[in-house]
Amino acid sequence: MFKRLLRYKSSLLTVFIGLPLIYALFFQYSQSVNKEYEDVLYQSIGQKISNQLRKKIEDKQQATLILSMSLATQISNLGPDLPFKEKISRFSLEELQPILNDLNQHTAYKNLQFEITDKKGAVLYRSWLSSNHTQASLQPEFSYLTKHPKHLTSVSSGRSDLSIKAISPIYNEKKLIGFFEVISHFNSIQKDLEQEGLSSLVVATSERSGLISQPFSQNRLHGYYLANFEPDQNLLSKIGKKDLQNWFSQKDHIAIWNDQLVVRYPLMSVDQQLHGVFLVFKPLDKINVVGILHQLDDESHAIEALRNLSVVVVLFVALLLVVNNQKRYYRAIINEENEVVLITDGQKLKDANKAFFSYFKDHSSLDSFQEEYECICNLFVNEEGFLQEKMGELTWVEYLLSHPESEYKAKVRYQLQEWIFNVKANCIDKSQGLSVVVMNDITKSEYLQAQLVERALKDELTGAWNRRSFNENIKKEIETAKRYRSNLSLILFDIDLFKQVNDTYGHDIGDLVLQTLAKQIQAHLRQGDLFYRVGGEEFTILLTHQNTTQAEKAAEKLRGVIEETDFPKVGKVTISLGVSEFKGQSETELYKQADSALYKAKKTGRNCVRSFALDLV
Ligand code: GH3
Ligand code: MG
Ligand code: MG
Repeated sequence: MFKRLLRYKSSLLTVFIGLPLIYALFFQYSQSVNKEYEDVLYQSIGQKISNQLRKKIEDKQQATLILSMSLATQISNLGPDLPFKEKISRFSLEELQPILNDLNQHTAYKNLQFEITDKKGAVLYRSWLSSNHTQASLQPEFSYLTKHPKHLTSVSSGRSDLSIKAISPIYNEKKLIGFFEVISHFNSIQKDLEQEGLSSLVVATSERSGLISQPFSQNRLHGYYLANFEPDQNLLSKIGKKDLQNWFSQKDHIAIWNDQLVVRYPLMSVDQQLHGVFLVFKPLDKINVVGILHQLDDESHAIEALRNLSVVVVLFVALLLVVNNQKRYYRAIINEENEVVLITDGQKLKDANKAFFSYFKDHSSLDSFQEEYECICNLFVNEEGFLQEKMGELTWVEYLLSHPESEYKAKVRYQLQEWIFNVKANCIDKSQGLSVVVMNDITKSEYLQAQLVERALKDELTGAWNRRSFNENIKKEIETAKRYRSNLSLILFDIDLFKQVNDTYGHDIGDLVLQTLAKQIQAHLRQGDLFYRVGGEEFTILLTHQNTTQAEKAAEKLRGVIEETDFPKVGKVTISLGVSEFKGQSETELYKQADSALYKAKKTGRNCVRSFALDLV
């Protein structure tokens, strides 16, 4: 019997040595494919959560900013002749309470706080303390704002909380007198996420936690300050100090912990310091991967049975099938995502999900796409602020990988369409240089954001840009003119004897004159020239690449247009215009010069153009 067996020595050797070897190889291969697809899936889902969170935080920041803008305006309009302290006490007693009540009743903003400071950032009023604290502010915003007063929104922490802030300058007669700060909390965002089955924590860094001496929320975890009002106690009990330290030191924004996907969103202040992290937790079993893995496990049992039959070929085919099945399962899930998910080496695309082809409709396969474009980066629009094919020495993917904390946007143009994507990359295979890139379409929210900004920068009555916008743009245009040594001129104009119009026909007709005039001016400007309402009936136009003579010509044309216009009810209205040219002076000086020229035009009979250079030097 033994001898007979020896006759089949080689066949037996194949079965007993070859079989386990082949099985081991396949097992390893299937594990690596498994891992790769699992990584892609987690990245894609984590990215989606991170984008949702970013949007929620941005929305809340914008709403808080708009509130602070309008309250700052309200306080500066209150009793023009009152001293600032008097205004504040009147405002906090009579004006603020009804606003707070309204917000409490009609919005999700239940815990707003207000702070008014002087122009150096020293606190004059706080809605959450009974006595006034006059200490200078701890917040980094003020070291910046006191030098460059502007509207600002950020995440920040001070002595009492880690929260969202919006700060608006308060002016009196164009002079900066202080700042109005509105503070809102992350709590509503946590509640929102709970509705979607996601737990979350907002944790201040250990350094910032140490500075919170008058905590708004009473919750801490291993010494770290938690901004949540009612954190999930079950979750807290599982988190060790090491876990928190890990999440603060980690570069990757997506991690797996205790059968949960943890998305870590850095909360950065205006000066780009990390003040805390927003952690979102999603149980892996909710992602359904565990379910899939179980299914795969069942299949492995079936394969075990095949192995017992010792049929090498059948096993070979069966294992191949498993690998393909795994691929199919993961692909099905990745295809369900709305985000574009790509696998690339930075140049060539190795794989793409279904969402990819919903954008590039003319192509139904990767090969067909790559026949036309070598890389998706060929479609990136070369515009400032957007991701480019080459970022300095690095390719776009290398750049994304080396800046995992930052948000990048790519503007993609394909045929006649344009989209804006938020782009993230993660390396999944170092040896082959493969990365998974997740692109989330934010075109709509970018558009809404632009609309919101426009609303804050435009004058409601005339649709012209407002004074704030002018103050920002004149600085920018002066910088550009300096850098490129290009010309820049300023026209300032004012309606002649407008008081009489109001006195004779009433304020409403006066408003109608302002609207008609703005429409006429707008219709006769060069494309790209912006015009601003800088006062009641005073307007400016910034003319890039134009010297005094050219600006005078433009001003003269506009004067003629208005002279020719028939204004409803009022008939004829004229304007006087002053022109100045940038020759290296400050923006205040440039404005003053146009103002002197305008004054001269008023003095010399109105309905005319005067320029600073020719008339006044
Ligand atoms: P001139 O500029 O030619 O010297 O005379 P004026 O009468 O236009 O001069 P002044 O600057 O003293 O008056 C401007 C008037 O514009 C005063 C104010 O009632 C009116 N005004 C300012 N803003 C508005 C507005 O939004 N609507 C209306 N209807 N009138 C406004
Ligand atoms: Mg005036
Ligand atoms: Mg006037």
